[in-house]
Amino acid sequence: MRYSSSLQVNLGFLGENFQLIQNIAPKAKIIPMVKADAYGNGLLEISRFLVKDCEAKTLGCASLGEAILIEELSRSFGTKLLVFSDTSLDDEELSKAYMGSNIIPVIHQRSDLELVLKSSTFSKIPLVIKVNTGMNRLGLSLEDLDANLPTLKARGIKHLMTHFARSFDKLRKDDKTHRQFEEFKKIQKYLNDSGVSIEETSVSNSGAVEQKFGIDETYIRPGLMLYGPPSVVDPIIWNGHQVSCWSTKVLSSFLVKKGTPVGYGVNVADKDCFMVVLPIGYGDGFLTYYSGMTVKVNGIVGRVFGRVNMDMTFLQFDPNASSEIKNGDLVEIWNHENTRIADMASQTRTHAYQIMCAVSSRIPRIYKVK
Ligand SMILES: *Cc1c(COP(=O)(O)O)cnc(C)c1O
Repeated sequence: MRYSSSLQVNLGFLGENFQLIQNIAPKAKIIPMVKADAYGNGLLEISRFLVKDCEAKTLGCASLGEAILIEELSRSFGTKLLVFSDTSLDDEELSKAYMGSNIIPVIHQRSDLELVLKSSTFSKIPLVIKVNTGMNRLGLSLEDLDANLPTLKARGIKHLMTHFARSFDKLRKDDKTHRQFEEFKKIQKYLNDSGVSIEETSVSNSGAVEQKFGIDETYIRPGLMLYGPPSVVDPIIWNGHQVSCWSTKVLSSFLVKKGTPVGYGVNVADKDCFMVVLPIGYGDGFLTYYSGMTVKVNGIVGRVFGRVNMDMTFLQFDPNASSEIKNGDLVEIWNHENTRIADMASQTRTHAYQIMCAVSSRIPRIYKVK
């Protein structure tokens, strides 16, 4: 645990983002994605807020394990928990979690579909099905569905969904997202025409929601945008709040002459400079990719120098910054300003998702309601 660093998570901002998203898609119900520890913000606290304050009726988890961690919350409020990928249906011990509870697996492969349709263990769970429309990662094909038409007809589909592979791109006519959506409509129509009832549908993750695409389905499934960062960055459309702020404090600082080796490896100061040592490194989720990235301290721009260590990072400044920056000064890796994470991502050729998920358990989460 760090005492000089923390991730402050502003739940008030989360609530406002939820409302802004609802305004973008007034007809759709929101399934907030809380997978990967709610994108690094803390599974329990975020889920609790989304359920109690935002009145979310369904939350999206990636793994059964995540859903089990918030099962009690879901039981108290009757919240449904969708498990999207790591459904563990073939594990007898684990699959008990689906019986008589609010945890619902999203069926994405034929073996699971057939198991759920045939086994009495799963006879009560609502049929939530993901179809592949061109992402080619998970999802049933039309052939998989066709081979099970009689049982599908008898059971009915509760929720049919697909997932977009490139919704972070600015939409263009006939692009991948449009083609996937068309394919989805084709499968939906085929099932309808074959007498399979479909109660609910969803297609859109953040990139699509930001562009008001697929928002007339029953649900939308935003993840990233809920926590602040835009998914579409060229150009940025989403103007929500960055919910978290990652701050730390200057641990040490000193002037360095050109040619002096600094830290691990052979990183030699290329000019006279002022070095600031931060007490965070890749062990905290400050990624090694951040080498060279800009970080501001007291409004002065420095750059991550050399290798990011496990527990520490160097920032390099002009020598005259030495009169402006002292040990103990506050450093915000990112703050509530909503384009910083997108800027970090573009500077370091990573992306907002990874930047947010990376913040490790060594950084305490502090929750504020504004
Ligand atoms: C992660 C995920 C989402 C949310 O994606 P974002 O880009 O973070 O909005 C939606 N649907 C599915 C199936 C997902 O796996």
